[in-house]
Amino acid sequence: MEKILFLAHTDTDGSVGKPVLEALTAALELAANLDGAELTVGLIGGEVQAAANAIAGCGAAAFLGVAGADFAVARYSSDAAAASALAQTAQATLVVAPGTSRFARALPGVCQRLGGRIDTQITGLQVVDGEPRIQRWYYRQRMAGTLTRSHRPWFLLAAPGAFSAWAGTPGTAEVQPVAVQVPESRTRVLGTQAALADAHTIRPDADLLFVAGAGWTKKQVDGQAHVSDAEKCILDFVEAAQASLGSSKSLVDQSGEGQQVLSFMSHLHQVGQTGTTPRHRKGLATCCHGEEPHVVGWRFITERRAINLDAGCGWAQGKADVLYVADAFEVLTKVNELLGKS
Ligand SMILES: Cc1cc2nc3c(=O)[nH]c(=O)nc-3n(C[C@H](O)[C@H](O)[C@H](O)COP(=O)(O)OP(=O)(O)OC[C@H]3O[C@@H](n4cnc5c(N)ncnc54)[C@H](O)[C@@H]3O)c2cc1C
Repeated sequence: MEKILFLAHTDTDGSVGKPVLEALTAALELAANLDGAELTVGLIGGEVQAAANAIAGCGAAAFLGVAGADFAVARYSSDAAAASALAQTAQATLVVAPGTSRFARALPGVCQRLGGRIDTQITGLQVVDGEPRIQRWYYRQRMAGTLTRSHRPWFLLAAPGAFSAWAGTPGTAEVQPVAVQVPESRTRVLGTQAALADAHTIRPDADLLFVAGAGWTKKQVDGQAHVSDAEKCILDFVEAAQASLGSSKSLVDQSGEGQQVLSFMSHLHQVGQTGTTPRHRKGLATCCHGEEPHVVGWRFITERRAINLDAGCGWAQGKADVLYVADAFEVLTKVNELLGKS
């Protein structure tokens, strides 16, 4: 009989985040489909009662908690000690956890300590003939794999965004505290430095992906480059439409080549073969040629449009549903006006 531990950490304010609720759905699906499986919740945080109450209605047989100031922050040594203790107390054979950066860092070490196996970036879970099977992508989402393991404990990190967030009723959970000796550590967490709110231009949940290509920084019809106009056009649009910002490789590589660059662009924005493969419903490419190594990153974007001066650009070769042959500066200035940006 499998013993499933749903392992989660709280956010710094003690609440549970969306990736945690998504992983909870995965754990519950597994528990429901595995005959006789028992589900235990294990929480790590500064204070875990509020988080336990928030998911009290999930039907877990027990709630375990490792709490205290040392566990409020993301740090490998304390997280690994807490997670190991929870997995041991629950005698877990399967551990389902959210694939947050905090757990992606700590859980492989926990798995090593407990002699287990771990799989990350899990996008689907099934039970076939009484055995759990996981799905994940390989080779930059070109191949989907299904696999199972007989080895236990088996740690499963659910990919954020792959499962629907659990939305059951809260209640009052009885949390059984698990004592953990805080390991000696040279790492002190002094605080968090987050980017300014308006600097967050990568928005995985946005409906629209807006891609900027190198054309924004190239000489225009007047023989001049207009980089600051380009910055304004792009940022105004992304903010007004709450779109997620993507880039071609040529544009993000320019900083290393000593050319004028868009100040808010980084390699994290790059879409394509050597970049990301985002999953927005719609995409709009601007000043981007639409070459194959770029467009391959659009394979999950269902509705595609592009604005390019060149009627023969890559987007016209069956890669976009609509190509506007137009000057992106003019189009975006007008669209931004319509969106209330002057
Ligand atoms: C192994 C390999 C991996 C690669 N991986 C990636 C990847 O992951 N992602 C990626 O993006 N690329 C990748 N590339 C590079 C890719 O092949 C292209 O070189 C790159 O995508 C081109 O970027 P771009 O379209 O922004 O620039 P350009 O090719 O310079 O195109 C600029 C476009 O802007 C248009 N334009 C200029 N001014 C305006 C205006 N005012 N209005 C409208 N349009 C205008 C021009 O007509 C032109 O089509 C890879 C290449 C290789 C060899």
